[in-house]
Amino acid sequence: MKVLLVEDEPGIASMIKRGLEEARYSVDVATDGQTGLDMASLNLYGLVILDLMLPKIDGLRVCSELRAQRIRTPILMLTARDTVDDRVRGLDGGADDYLPKPFDFKELLARIRALLRRDKVHHTRTIRIGDLEIDTAQRRVTRAGVEIGLSHREYELLEALAAHESQVLTREAIQERIWMDEESYSNTVDVYIGMLRKKIDAVHPVKLIQTVRGSGYTLRLPEGEERL
Ligand code: CA
Repeated sequence: MKVLLVEDEPGIASMIKRGLEEARYSVDVATDGQTGLDMASLNLYGLVILDLMLPKIDGLRVCSELRAQRIRTPILMLTARDTVDDRVRGLDGGADDYLPKPFDFKELLARIRALLRRDKVHHTRTIRIGDLEIDTAQRRVTRAGVEIGLSHREYELLEALAAHESQVLTREAIQERIWMDEESYSNTVDVYIGMLRKKIDAVHPVKLIQTVRGSGYTLRLPEGEERL
């Protein structure tokens, strides 16, 4: 699983990165708030660990911006300032949990496990975008009430796009998420998007899968279409 760590103190960043890698997480590090925000918007992370005091944009802003973009990746806030007000602000801003520094690494790992478990429960739900419905527990997809049969990969791709509704996902991010370490051709994502479009969008006037030129793909209801 991929974790984004946004932390400006090099010593703390490398300590956390090393520890998480030993626990078999793969870790990207951003050293300021703006970079962290950009990375979290463009990649599919399973978790964001976010320091509160950061250069450029502070952790609270990063958190609320991500939530405003409908990015629902679990966020664990770290901070040296352990006051009730900070904790409340962090949680109100969309963080899922809060850990004051200095912390015991074992506690960090336990909090991460708890967050990921909660996220999994949270994910067994139905995602609705317009008349498209994805039952993530049953892996069952319908559009306008008609069931659509998808292959394993097609389903994974659709769920990734739908879970990040309105967010543009790059081909690289999709490829890394769905095909992981497997060999895949550079046009694999485009081929699968094409197959998915045939099944999801072809017979419907409202197209949900959209190409964002030069960037990637997004799944969203076109502007002006009423939300159901
Ligand atoms: Ca800091």
